[in-house]
Amino acid sequence: MNSGLNDYTFIILIAVIAVVAVILQTIIELRKRPKQVRTTTKTLLECIKCGYRLEQPYTTGDFVGLVKTKCPKCGSPMKVIAVYDVELKTRT
Ligand SMILES: [Zn+2]
Repeated sequence: MNSGLNDYTFIILIAVIAVVAVILQTIIELRKRPKQVRTTTKTLLECIKCGYRLEQPYTTGDFVGLVKTKCPKCGSPMKVIAVYDVELKTRT
């Protein structure tokens, strides 16, 4: 009777498959991570009088339609016309 050896081989085989599966999963996860795109939120303002546009970093509370600052050109109020995410380009 030599069934003990077969059981042992089977356990080793399962262990090897499990280890390989974990390694493969780790490799896939690591490959995904550097491709994550970093973004920054911007607020686009437009002067209600002369149409001058100004892009600013988003601050909490910004929303489309909000009158925020004064136009640097004519001194009229500026309105938020867009809030959007911009991709940060990272060079390695
Ligand atoms: Zn203006």
